[in-house]
Amino acid sequence: MTDFAGLRAVVTGGASGIGLAAATLLAERGAQVVVFDLKPDVPEPLTGIAADVTDDASVRDAVAAAALQLGGIDVLVNNAGIGAQGNVTANDDEEWHRVFDVNVVGVARVTRAVLPHLRRSKAAAIVNTCSIAATAGLPNRAVYSASKGAVLALTMAMAADHVREGIRVNCVNPGTADTPWVGRLLDVAADPAAERAALEARQPMGRLVTAEEVANAIAYLASPLSGSTTGTALAVDGGMQNL
Ligand code: NAD
Repeated sequence: MTDFAGLRAVVTGGASGIGLAAATLLAERGAQVVVFDLKPDVPEPLTGIAADVTDDASVRDAVAAAALQLGGIDVLVNNAGIGAQGNVTANDDEEWHRVFDVNVVGVARVTRAVLPHLRRSKAAAIVNTCSIAATAGLPNRAVYSASKGAVLALTMAMAADHVREGIRVNCVNPGTADTPWVGRLLDVAADPAAERAALEARQPMGRLVTAEEVANAIAYLASPLSGSTTGTALAVDGGMQNL
């Protein structure tokens, strides 16, 4: 499929997991893709630019460099994110601010730097990587769930604000996806293999979501195939939200 032929995309957090799968898929479908990440080591044909979504100057420099290299920007995938464990009492103020700075304000920082370029595009789309944590009431994920709830609300607000400028804004809500993120959680378990088996058994489909499945949903929402869709959240969660 070449539905992204001629389109230019930026994917944040694109050096790993869901972001890397999405960047790779967009490139396979014909897009020119620049990845922003803390350590932007990415395979060709992707181009990596070092950027920290918590640092406004870093974001503005990276967006300027990407726009120069690509000759414009049509698609923005706001995917960079970090996790946190624990109930509402578990994290101090510093941790709340740290998670929100990446997951929520990071989306706003990159978006406001990219918007002038999207306004000049004929196929402008933003896709935010949210989470089923925004809607499903996951235990032991208070600060993370709150941050993704904010991303969901921000997605709807941005969709309303920019629809008349021809910019669509949607999000994907992955369930537990098999990425290095989950690998890091399993690695600290006493018995990672047993923990993985238990995690899979808890999934309604008996397996984790794949990064490629989430990437396909991102690509759909980023492409002209979803040209009349804005302000939606597409769950890719193996049925988790229906539990
Ligand atoms: P990952 O850890 O494999 O990838 C996240 C990437 O974001 C990394 O490359 C990391 O370097 C980058 N990143 C982190 N902080 C950054 C910063 N300040 N500036 C720039 N880049 C930064 O994780 P993943 O599982 O691929 O997660 C990607 C997104 O998917 C996140 O937003 C996450 O919340 C969301 N998500 C993941 C799952 C899951 O189960 N894996 C489920 C729901 C939602």
